[in-house]
Amino acid sequence: MRMLMNNLDPEVAERPEDLVVYGGTGKAARSWEAYDAIVRELRRLRGDQTLLVQSGKPVGVFETHEWAPRVLISNSMLVPEWATWEEFRRLEALGLTMYGQMTAGSWIYIGTQGILQGTYETFAAVARKRFGGTLAGTITLTAGLGGMGGAQPLAITLNGGVALCVEVDDERIARRLEHRYLDVRAENLEDGLRLAYEARQARRALSIGVPGNAADVFPELARRDFPIDVVTDQTPAHDPLSYVPAGLSPEDAAELRLDEPDVYVKRARESMARQVDAMVMLQDRGAEVFDYGNSLRAEARLGGSTRAFEYPGFVPAYIRPLFSEGKGPFRWVALSGDPADIAATDRAMVDEFSDDPALVRWIKAAGERVSYQGLPARICWLGYGERARAGRRFNELVRKGEVGAPIVIGRDHLDSGSVASPYRETEAMQDGSDAIADWPILNALLNTSSGASWVSVHHGGGVGIGRSIHAGMVAVADGTVEADKKLERVLTNDPGTGVMRHADAGYERAVEVARERGVHIPMLDE
Ligand code: NAD
Repeated sequence: MRMLMNNLDPEVAERPEDLVVYGGTGKAARSWEAYDAIVRELRRLRGDQTLLVQSGKPVGVFETHEWAPRVLISNSMLVPEWATWEEFRRLEALGLTMYGQMTAGSWIYIGTQGILQGTYETFAAVARKRFGGTLAGTITLTAGLGGMGGAQPLAITLNGGVALCVEVDDERIARRLEHRYLDVRAENLEDGLRLAYEARQARRALSIGVPGNAADVFPELARRDFPIDVVTDQTPAHDPLSYVPAGLSPEDAAELRLDEPDVYVKRARESMARQVDAMVMLQDRGAEVFDYGNSLRAEARLGGSTRAFEYPGFVPAYIRPLFSEGKGPFRWVALSGDPADIAATDRAMVDEFSDDPALVRWIKAAGERVSYQGLPARICWLGYGERARAGRRFNELVRKGEVGAPIVIGRDHLDSGSVASPYRETEAMQDGSDAIADWPILNALLNTSSGASWVSVHHGGGVGIGRSIHAGMVAVADGTVEADKKLERVLTNDPGTGVMRHADAGYERAVEVARERGVHIPMLDE
């Protein structure tokens, strides 16, 4: 209940009045009536009952048992032949469904920090691949400073680089400045370019918010002789009714969206095509270009771009080796609301993983640089074996009273075993299994059987309706002996499904990890 409320905390959610948490229209509950009913049910739910939530609406409470999840959630699921945005919008308008994104409808969003380390790691991989391990002396061009995209400027400056972030909505620029994710706002493009160039020459880290539309600014930069080293994008391209078409202010866009949605979608896709064509041109000129998991290439293709898929998605380009070790975005939240509790968990992590310098550096940097939104929280990518160790330590902290209240442990759905998404997490799998969606379902079923506190299955998060199936899980460390056992199982089995999935697809590293760390895979071990 506290995590549902946290998702909608005005500090955390992008548009709490509409129940929108992040990622275009990703919601935490279907309507305010549904929200009130969920809270009422959670208040009276017993420890041997389970509440069922269908796309943001509570639909049933059943007798189960103590090891069963207290809440099971299914969001935005549609039968494949009906899985289009058009049909989804029709059903949404009838009040029958909602868009759950990933952590919005599964109540484990922790603000922009949630994506920060993943974004930091992605840019670190870019730096290693192309620039000798640092982004110092480089300019990255990107767009979208929303709930997730807002992590980009800080991730780039933590890697030493200069970030030029194009954003159409001035309020979003102000919000990222206020939360210290962004350093400065440029008056206009010329001002932004001057600031970027000076910082690049001085090899100084700097992030700059540039007011404007990516569909105008990217082509403009592709025409000019200005040094751009890295290019990506995090506008809400997964949903052509969220991406703002060129030539419209956010207010005009809101009007057109309501009045003429078909015209809006057509204009948005044409704009995306212009933006993507500019990205391909910048790649032709030598820039490192990648898709940042928002389906921009697919929408641009629908808008008439013929070269959209000439640059790769970020998972095959940089992240898959981590997924093969079951590594992914582990996160935790202090239910006390006291930042001192996260400081205590940070100390425990530094102690537990003292032999991992990159992890220690990350936890220390996050402690110094990250401001909390809503409940204090932390994110840290951990792999198979490591997550269970962290869970054990946190439960011990709660038991000994070294933190003031239970710790909630969860993760993004963008993880190694919990998602099927051919334009993102499972793009270009070695065995061609990109679109096989049995894996996230098995992940959710296994977490349900292993003692998770709540489990969710979703459709369409990240890349949009029709393009992904994924699962979420959360387990609460409340200090009890029972929680020790549940956490051990859930936090072992959950990343275990990632190792399994990648070993099955033939990734050598995953096969090694399975053998070294004891993930039993029948057709491999005999
Ligand atoms: P959001 O809706 O909170 O923010 C999107 C931002 O883009 C808004 O500030 C909006 O004003 C701006 N914008 C829209 N059209 C624009 C345009 N034409 N030019 C410039 N700015 C424009 O969304 P979010 O939570 O930041 O997510 C962004 C995208 O990234 C989504 O498609 C989401 O599905 C995807 N995503 C990717 C990852 C990942 O790991 N790569 C993770 C989560 C979400």
